[in-house]
Amino acid sequence: MPQNDGMASIVPERLGTDSRFKFKCHKGVKCFTKCCRGINIILTPYDIVRMKNRLGLSSEEFLALYTTPQLLEKTDLPVITLKLLDDDLSSCPFVRDDGCIIYQDRPTTCRYYPLGVASLSHKEGVDEDGFYFFVNEPHCLGFEEDNKWTVKEWRKDQGVDIHDEINADWTDLVVRKRSFPPNIKLNEESKKMFFLASYNIDKFREFVFNSSFLKRYDIDEDTLARIKEDELELLVFGIKWLKWLFFKQGDFKLKAQNKRF
Ligand code: SF4
Ligand code: SF4
Repeated sequence: MPQNDGMASIVPERLGTDSRFKFKCHKGVKCFTKCCRGINIILTPYDIVRMKNRLGLSSEEFLALYTTPQLLEKTDLPVITLKLLDDDLSSCPFVRDDGCIIYQDRPTTCRYYPLGVASLSHKEGVDEDGFYFFVNEPHCLGFEEDNKWTVKEWRKDQGVDIHDEINADWTDLVVRKRSFPPNIKLNEESKKMFFLASYNIDKFREFVFNSSFLKRYDIDEDTLARIKEDELELLVFGIKWLKWLFFKQGDFKLKAQNKRF
């Protein structure tokens, strides 16, 4: 099955894409769906788009119904976690006795499980990017099964590649921000823009097309057509814009009348 506790304790074994492990998750394991309760799952921008579309909700509705915003001191960036049910087991709202009801659109961390990803973990001791680790929860019996994987094979099997590809700029932004000295804080407006472009794609679309955004930025016709038509193009565009705002990286151009010399 799925998921991962982004906050679980980390065994300091660093895995690369060719590292090997034995694991299998199936409905016959005694622990089936235990990993979907009492968890803390950080959602990425692409996770939110997939899940809200699966549920037929706007991003605003999805955020209100299924998520909890948090401000992690370590990154000084707002993150979004899946809101658990108020039941005895603190279950994920999408878990049932026979598994995950949104399995095809489950979040990135659920796909990686039982692996964690350093760049998404937001934890002390995992400042470096580019490695994986075992989440290592004692209730997970999947390691007793015989299927052999490399990390690369597991990622392919779980359909993680497309998530990582679309989230790549966002992950890079979060990792880079995490390495800033703690005394460098973002102002409230920057945090608001990060939240909007990262997590609330429908409101971000309104912001781009119904505010003064297009009067301020010189966006070519081709890009405009693509981001108008295609939600994922808009998501990728929004994250690139954030990187320009935060790090002045990329080729966004202010229109002449907005430049201050
Ligand atoms: S989204 Fe699905 S896989 Fe992830 S924790 Fe919830 S039920 Fe489990
Ligand atoms: S084997 Fe691990 S991943 Fe699979 S259901 Fe059990 S706890 Fe979850």
